[in-house]
Amino acid sequence: MTCTAEGVVSALRAAVAVVIAHRDELVRLDREIGDGDHGENMRRGFTALLSRLDSEPPATPGSALKLVATTLISTVGGAAGPLYGTAFLRAASAVGDATALDGPAVAKALRGALDGVVARGKAEVGDKTMVDALTPAVAAAEAAGDDMVAVLVAAADAADAGAESTVPLVARKGRASYLGERSADHLDPGARSTALLLRAFADAAQS
Ligand code: ADP
Ligand code: MG
Ligand code: MG
Repeated sequence: MTCTAEGVVSALRAAVAVVIAHRDELVRLDREIGDGDHGENMRRGFTALLSRLDSEPPATPGSALKLVATTLISTVGGAAGPLYGTAFLRAASAVGDATALDGPAVAKALRGALDGVVARGKAEVGDKTMVDALTPAVAAAEAAGDDMVAVLVAAADAADAGAESTVPLVARKGRASYLGERSADHLDPGARSTALLLRAFADAAQS
């Protein structure tokens, strides 16, 4: 199975719904170790995405991913806006002009997303950021083979575990790092939102 522009748009609509449903949870997580705005930042960005998907329906998977990038960069703000914006921009470049994405193309897009986040934010695994969710997701995606659904499910499962792995960590990047040792014993909000997005994409691909 492959994923056309229409499939990518459906997956993005599913992601919008998930972000809205988890807005309060992400706010609460960010209140514990940050400034409490992550859920609202994400809700604002993904709500804006929904109206742009309606008004400017993208013709290819790459142009859909690029629309996500430009929308998030201009609406999310904070640390996560530029980071997710760069992630989707690099994912768009990775898929190029392809009219449909197979499993390996999805894995390439995820690798591009991770490279973008790391280039922009300079975080490593263990710093208690979204990189802790995205890095194992990319590795799992690349090991999952040719099937697009299997690639997305593997990525979502690994991202869930990666997000959970941030709980005991002391933050070394972003606002949470200002708390030092007190940032331990909390789930990183950005790692959680990354895991939520990947789960939304996997669920959409399966439906
Ligand atoms: P802000 O911290 O500016 O209020 P958000 O609350 O929207 O922005 O996003 C916070 C999340 O951004 C963190 O939970 C973390 O996952 C992620 N983050 C912060 N700095 C970095 C970084 N340098 N690299 C990767 N992710 C980061
Ligand atoms: Mg915040
Ligand atoms: Mg903020």
